[in-house]
Amino acid sequence: MNHDPAAPEGIDPATDDSTSATLDALFEGTRALGVHESLEELLAEVLGRARQLIGFDRGAVLLVDEETGLLTVEQAVGYGERIVEILAIERPMGEGLAGWAAEHRKAIRVGDVSQDSRYVAGRESTSSNMAVPLIVGNRVAGVIAVESERLFAFTPEHEKILTVLGTQAALGILAFRSQTQLRLRIDQLSALYRISKAGEAGALGATLNSMLEITSEVLPQGQCAILLLDESGQHLRVAAGQGYQSSVRFLEIPIGQGITGRCAMSRETQVVDDIERLESAEEYIPGVPGARSEVAVPLIADGHLIGVFNAESVQPRAFSEEHIQTLTVIARQVAEVIRSAQLLETTHRLAVTDALTGLFNRRHFNQQLEDNVRRATRYDEPLALIFLDLDHFKFVNDKFGHQAGDRCLQALAETLRESVRDSDQIARIGGEEFAILLIRADRDLAVSIAERVRSRIDDLVLEEDAPLPVDLTASLGLAFFREDGDDPKSLMRSADRALYMAKRLGRNRVVLAAALEDDLEP
Ligand code: GH3
Ligand code: MG
Ligand code: MG
Repeated sequence: MNHDPAAPEGIDPATDDSTSATLDALFEGTRALGVHESLEELLAEVLGRARQLIGFDRGAVLLVDEETGLLTVEQAVGYGERIVEILAIERPMGEGLAGWAAEHRKAIRVGDVSQDSRYVAGRESTSSNMAVPLIVGNRVAGVIAVESERLFAFTPEHEKILTVLGTQAALGILAFRSQTQLRLRIDQLSALYRISKAGEAGALGATLNSMLEITSEVLPQGQCAILLLDESGQHLRVAAGQGYQSSVRFLEIPIGQGITGRCAMSRETQVVDDIERLESAEEYIPGVPGARSEVAVPLIADGHLIGVFNAESVQPRAFSEEHIQTLTVIARQVAEVIRSAQLLETTHRLAVTDALTGLFNRRHFNQQLEDNVRRATRYDEPLALIFLDLDHFKFVNDKFGHQAGDRCLQALAETLRESVRDSDQIARIGGEEFAILLIRADRDLAVSIAERVRSRIDDLVLEEDAPLPVDLTASLGLAFFREDGDDPKSLMRSADRALYMAKRLGRNRVVLAAALEDDLEP
């Protein structure tokens, strides 16, 4: 391209004004409208060509904004320093001659604008005007409008030239739009493919994080997060986040509150173009400092709401129709992965726990004991084991029935959980027999925990509808790894013997296996 679109030069001198020469030039011109990096570049080129072939003073390409329906100036030539102002112009369809051409899908040529009521005067001294619509598919995508300071500057020939160039521009718009769509589609597909791959890999937390990483590649720069419904079903908690400060992990969003909470409540995608324009502060729970736009997509699998997929940006109106569509598709995939991970987790939990109390079962306890003995050996750490049996429990069943007995066992499980440290492992290893592994607990600590367990059971008041007149107590045997047994079997045998001794000595007490040995081997 060696023309200078800024320099008005009228009809190319080489064209000689004859029709065939004009068409030749037009042909050359449109053929040259080849590869462009951007739509703006193509439109600038079209305007430049038109100016070369027609010779106008000012010209502009206006495109229809898909969201607002307004005609907005995309490219303009001949306005000198006013160009920035001109590029900011937005006007409704139907307004002015350009608006008329767009609305009526017809070219318009006005020799004397002062005689045409449709003309809306600008700051420039315009005498004649011409505009052609840009039709893409069956929709008006925009309009090319040119003006001259001379009266009757434009001929039917000029109108033809502008129409042909307009068609080129329209095709360019179509190509760029489908290219953008195609690129989005490809990004979306490849993201989905990688997300489904990520879903195959083990641990849920890591999987969600890699899903978010991939998602953030197809979103405008900003933050995204996966929030899951907690056990109560009343709150959302962040399960994975990308681009947030770590404090967001502790955010607890009540269902119905904020954009994310409303999304969970309604099970419908929520889009906020500008957070600053929300009516009340309650409508928004801050996640990112200075966030302006936000999208929240519900995560639904098998008809169950499991959480919300959320994206935020500091830019207002950061999320386009396409972004939201992409997020929706990704959210479906994410929901599937979470759902199957949750099912897997449930299956695993059922396999290792006891249905009545929710404590670990005997089989899992055996496994844990083995693992912890191995660990304590390798790292030379202390480990203690409690065996616990309820006292005269047959009596509870006999007097109040088996169901009341079951409720006692559930209350007992709760008491046990509250009495030990989070790191300790409790299992129900028989009907009313329990084992507690005290991980890395030295002697003093183990003894104090055992004593606390005993006294809490002793203090336990059972009431559900009415208080049960049951005075629940338990006997405990405590054994230490190494001193009382250096493998799982011998450690269990020691704890069991200590428990037996606690029963013999009158119940409701803790007996140490070590003390037992002292007694037996003085
Ligand atoms: P002791 O102080 O000697 O331990 O007396 P005990 O009555 O507790 O005797 P033992 O431990 O031998 O008896 C266990 C009783 O616990 C038998 C049964 O009635 C009751 N039991 C075991 N499993 C369950 C259960 O799942 N639910 C209910 N309700 N009771 C159970
Ligand atoms: Mg028993
Ligand atoms: Mg018992």
